This record gives sequence, C-alpha cells and structure tokens, in this order.
Amino acid sequence: MFIPFKQMTKEEFQATFSTEEKCLEFLAEQKWQKGYVCKKCGHTNYCKGKHPFSRRCTKCKHDESAKVDTLFEGCRFPLPKAFYIAFLVCNAKKISIHEISEELNLRQMTCWSFKKKLHECIMQKQDISSQQKIDLQELIVREM
Ligand SMILES: [Zn+2]
Repeated sequence: MFIPFKQMTKEEFQATFSTEEKCLEFLAEQKWQKGYVCKKCGHTNYCKGKHPFSRRCTKCKHDESAKVDTLFEGCRFPLPKAFYIAFLVCNAKKISIHEISEELNLRQMTCWSFKKKLHECIMQKQDISSQQKIDLQELIVREM
C-alpha cells in the first residue's frame, strides 16, 4: 500500500492515522516491507508478538515492536500526534512550535525535540538524494 502523503490534506492524514493501531500497522508495513528478519538471530519466521503489530521470532522468541528502527522509536507521546507533527514538517507548513503544542496539547519541549529529530533526519536524507521535497514515507524507516 502506497500513500503519497504529500497529496493528502491535513484532514485526510488525520483520518488515516487517527489511532495508535493504525500508525503501528503502517510502521510495520514500512519496516518489514522487504520481509522479516529477526534482529537477534537472523531467523525469518515470526508469529504475532505481545504488542499490536509487533513480531516475535519463532526461534529465539525475541519480540520486536513496529516502532524499533523507525523515526518513532522512543517516542513518548501518542503516535497519531507524532505522525501529525511529521506530516506538518514534511509539508513544510509554516507552523510554530507554539501552535503545534497548542493544537496537540503537548509540551513545547516535546514538540521541539521531535521536530528537531525530524529535521536531522531530513538533512541526512537530502544530502544523499536531490533537493526535492522529501516525503514522510522516505523518512520513517532508518537506514541500517
Ligand atoms: Zn530470533
């Protein structure tokens, strides 16, 4: 499933990623699109893990969350909010930290540090690729 985020309106985006589960499902799809490989032992068979959309290795039982190795690893606030900040940043909307924090009811510091992380990620990818505006999709999964 390919969603061109750049073509989505804010309303469409928020409807698509309205819950934690929808975000995790999307992350899992992106992250394992080339197939599942256990990080611990390299095994390629898995079963459903303990958490929504996590995958558990059938050999060593290592349970990996859909968030690991993505931009959202370690994110301490709800994923729909994090996705939305990413959407705003990628669409280069002129929106201040103050506005984001008001709209999402998050601390300014939280918004600021996540936005900073996004910017670092964008800078890294843009050095390699062209000057084109980057799509959120390209940012989600970290390079190994
Ligand atoms: Zn394993």
